[in-house]
Amino acid sequence: MSDCVFCKIVAGSIPSTKVYEDESCLAFRDLEPKAPTHILVIPKQHIQSADAVTAENSALVAHIFTVIPGIMKEQGVTGGYRIITNAGPDAGQTVPHLHFHVLAGVEMGWDPVG
Ligand code: AMP
Ligand code: ZN
Repeated sequence: MSDCVFCKIVAGSIPSTKVYEDESCLAFRDLEPKAPTHILVIPKQHIQSADAVTAENSALVAHIFTVIPGIMKEQGVTGGYRIITNAGPDAGQTVPHLHFHVLAGVEMGWDPVG
């Protein structure tokens, strides 16, 4: 997707602060962190959102979940973390490329509509 900001980050045409990369996924710091540690983990392949996950591409999602623990360990996170993915307008998705927010470093409340 040529006009997708996260595809541009994958291609290297927009800078990012990468914390992890392999053949199928990339992790980088969120520009506007909502917690002391706020990493975005994305598949390199353009998938619109969690609502576009299928039997054909779900291995990419599973792979992301296998790399998150190591990324958090590398970041020095010891108190746990939260993984969030926003899918569609009501959830507040602003970048239409599947991404997992991984938040840590602060005790979090639980009020998604607050
Ligand atoms: P969402 O609202 O769930 O779609 O999340 C999109 C996230 O991407 C937001 O938290 C933004 O701060 C973040 N973001 C947007 N552009 C960039 C960028 N160029 N580099 C890093 N994070 C970005
Ligand atoms: Zn994309």
